[in-house]
Amino acid sequence: MTATVAGLTSSMIRPGTRWRNWGRSVVATPSYRAFATSADEIIEAVAFARRSGLTLKTVGAGHSFAPIAATNGVHLDISAYDGVLAVDGNLVTFAAGTNLYQLPALLGSLGLALENMGDIDRQTIAGAISTGTHGTGGRFGGLATQIVAMTLATADGTMLRISETENAELLPAARIGLGALGVVVDVTIRCVPAFMLHAVEKGEPLDDVLDNWLERVATVDHFEFYWFPHTTSALTKTNTHLPADTPRKPQGRFRAWVDDEFLPNGVYVALCQLGIIAPATTPPLNRLSERLIAQREVTDGWHAVFTSPRRVRFREMEYSLPREHVPAALRAIRELIDARGWRITFPIEVRATAADDNWLSTAHGRASGYIAVHRYYREDPTEYFREVEAILRDFEGRPHWGKMHNRTAADLRPAYPRFDDFLAVRDRLDPDRLFANEYLTRVLGE
Ligand SMILES: Cc1cc2nc3c(=O)[nH]c(=O)nc-3n(C[C@H](O)[C@H](O)[C@H](O)COP(=O)(O)OP(=O)(O)OC[C@H]3O[C@@H](n4cnc5c(N)ncnc54)[C@H](O)[C@@H]3O)c2cc1C
Repeated sequence: MTATVAGLTSSMIRPGTRWRNWGRSVVATPSYRAFATSADEIIEAVAFARRSGLTLKTVGAGHSFAPIAATNGVHLDISAYDGVLAVDGNLVTFAAGTNLYQLPALLGSLGLALENMGDIDRQTIAGAISTGTHGTGGRFGGLATQIVAMTLATADGTMLRISETENAELLPAARIGLGALGVVVDVTIRCVPAFMLHAVEKGEPLDDVLDNWLERVATVDHFEFYWFPHTTSALTKTNTHLPADTPRKPQGRFRAWVDDEFLPNGVYVALCQLGIIAPATTPPLNRLSERLIAQREVTDGWHAVFTSPRRVRFREMEYSLPREHVPAALRAIRELIDARGWRITFPIEVRATAADDNWLSTAHGRASGYIAVHRYYREDPTEYFREVEAILRDFEGRPHWGKMHNRTAADLRPAYPRFDDFLAVRDRLDPDRLFANEYLTRVLGE
């Protein structure tokens, strides 16, 4: 006979084990781990948590740096609930446990693509939209802006359909729901015809890039740059959309290994370790990294250009700002690093997105620029992140919900005009806080 725990079979429910996120900044020990392979099993897991008087958190790929996915209640894993559920022209419905790295194969057979992506593909679709994951591109929004419909398993154990025609008023809240409104069961994404990307990466003087920042973002499809602290130049990346039948011009296999694996991942680990033992080596090594990593030009499929592997673990804080504030904010961070005498190995990443109308989007109501600071995971990021955060906050900054920050509900409310509307939806859909955890209590309130 199959064993059961409070009505769930042993294949669905197991005792909790210690869980860590990718960045090793969060550790949690849930009471139970539940595994759902279908929409019905998701509802069963929600009912189990309610009956047991426990909270429930769906965990995606654990790629958030903030403790947004941590729970000591029921940790729900829906990674086996993946793949395409329906196709209607360019509208594709995915099971919520689908990972972004599955999309090129799933969409490729349909001749479709995502219009934009962040810089990795390990996340689940549900996890990525829930925290407002974004890529770069002045006229492109984050992943959540591409969602036209979704289904939520809510705290009362029912399925709630949200689309442009059903419960449409909930769509701007549910697209970036922080996991606070229910379990995302499926998501319908407006895709675009498949395309190729032409990518140019090169080193340019940082001050020139900052002086021309607004124009650069406005005149190309996808622009971003990295600045290695202690250097005077930026590594710029410019991606341009090309038709799907454009011939590929990928890098040679050796060059691709050097650029994608050895330099950013292999050599980088050594540099980061050396930076800890001998901080004085960081400025010259950053100048060397800057020279080694730069200068390449490829044409390849959308997914191959947007994303790359990240095998060096790090911690990250990222803030969105009104786009025009980026140059002044980055210069202020440069002065701070110089004044404090810190040795920072990891580059600072700068990106942009279009404004959107999702209530908790970091780009809500404003064309945005993003500044992300990182530290190797064996270094303590506290002081660096706290002081950079103080600067970015003064530039009307809003923190990425999935990355490290110190903000609270009281000081986030003024940053989001629809904050209280989101809380009202939370009160309606999860009055007993079945989906709460400490992080949500900090950023949304009790
Ligand atoms: C190396 C690296 C690179 C990154 N690059 C980028 C980038 O380019 N751009 C960017 O914006 N961010 C980036 N991030 C951040 C990352 O995209 C987000 O933190 C994202 O939320 C992680 O997705 P996940 O599947 O790991 O979700 P998790 O971190 O596991 O969970 C995130 C949140 O989603 C909730 N959730 C997950 N599944 C469901 C569900 N089915 N229903 C309801 N809630 C759910 C969780 O409860 C939690 O609240 C990066 C992170 C790393 C580690």
